[in-house]
Amino acid sequence: MEFLRPATWDEALAAKAGHPTALPLSGGTDVMVELNFDVRRPSALLDLNRVTELTTWSNDGDVVRLGAAVPYRRITDELSGPLPGLALAARTVGSPQIRNRGSVGGNLGGASPAGDAHPALLAAGRDVLVEAASVRGTRLIPIDEFYVGVKRNSLEPDELIRAVRIPVADGPQQFSKVGTRNAMVIAVCAFGFALHPGSGTVGTGIGSAAPTPRRAVEAEEYLQGVLAGRGLWESGGPLGAGVVQRFGELVKAAAAPIDDVRGTADYRRHALAVLARRTLTWTWNDYGKQIGSAA
Ligand SMILES: Cc1cc2nc3c(=O)[nH]c(=O)nc-3n(C[C@H](O)[C@H](O)[C@H](O)COP(=O)(O)OP(=O)(O)OC[C@H]3O[C@@H](n4cnc5c(N)ncnc54)[C@H](O)[C@@H]3O)c2cc1C
Repeated sequence: MEFLRPATWDEALAAKAGHPTALPLSGGTDVMVELNFDVRRPSALLDLNRVTELTTWSNDGDVVRLGAAVPYRRITDELSGPLPGLALAARTVGSPQIRNRGSVGGNLGGASPAGDAHPALLAAGRDVLVEAASVRGTRLIPIDEFYVGVKRNSLEPDELIRAVRIPVADGPQQFSKVGTRNAMVIAVCAFGFALHPGSGTVGTGIGSAAPTPRRAVEAEEYLQGVLAGRGLWESGGPLGAGVVQRFGELVKAAAAPIDDVRGTADYRRHALAVLARRTLTWTWNDYGKQIGSAA
């Protein structure tokens, strides 16, 4: 197996163009497990760890540009203000050792339906863009178009993920996950939720309950209609139990889970409705405080 170790981003792109089957290696928390268990035997490994720009992030006030290899620990430590949903998700990943190495770029590269970054990225809004680059240039892939099948994403063979562009939160966000124990656990199901008062929209993301991470589109549209129709964005008034219940039911209906070793499809649907109701209630309470304190 060849081991490619570019020192710069341009060298990395050239190496990927010359070896399209080379497997990128970032934190290695998925890749090394797969190699050790002989799940795959790539012709070459493309180690990105010398490309230091991948571990940087910037914030222009509207958008955070998160380098593909920024580890989860730094997302929780440094970005819980602008990216609260992703920071909460990052906090639930693996163990401290995994959070010191694992990255959102690696989560996107693997595109597992159980990846914890995905529900938070989907909920953060339709303007979340994955920066995919090759020697041919850079393209921005909307997060909704990124996941194309079970553990498959829309990257071309010569492309690498450079960064993810995520709008700075303008309202409360939440992430909640059910596991078979409290830590070091792959999600049985997960749910990300965000309020976007600036655009009068809400965002959802379902994890581990469909072939790909996905939104609950009807639930989003229902809630947006209620919030706008009843003037709730302005008043921050109570949602009412019926609205919360209906939102949970629509999230549940958007899932397409399977039975597997971690849980049954029925349990996943039930748990998702609970997570949806809880995260909506938490964020709405936080939003009430936010606009109350601003008034
Ligand atoms: C003990 C343990 C616990 C875990 N717990 C969780 C958990 O709770 N939640 C969770 O979501 N995940 C978990 N994982 C899985 C893993 O940590 C995450 O998926 C993590 O985000 C992978 O990031 P990484 O940088 O280590 O990726 P790597 O292992 O380096 O790469 C993962 C995939 O992405 C590709 N890739 C990496 N970088 C790029 C790039 N720049 N461009 C294109 N492709 C790229 C690789 O080729 C590979 O296919 C766990 C893993 C272990 C071993």
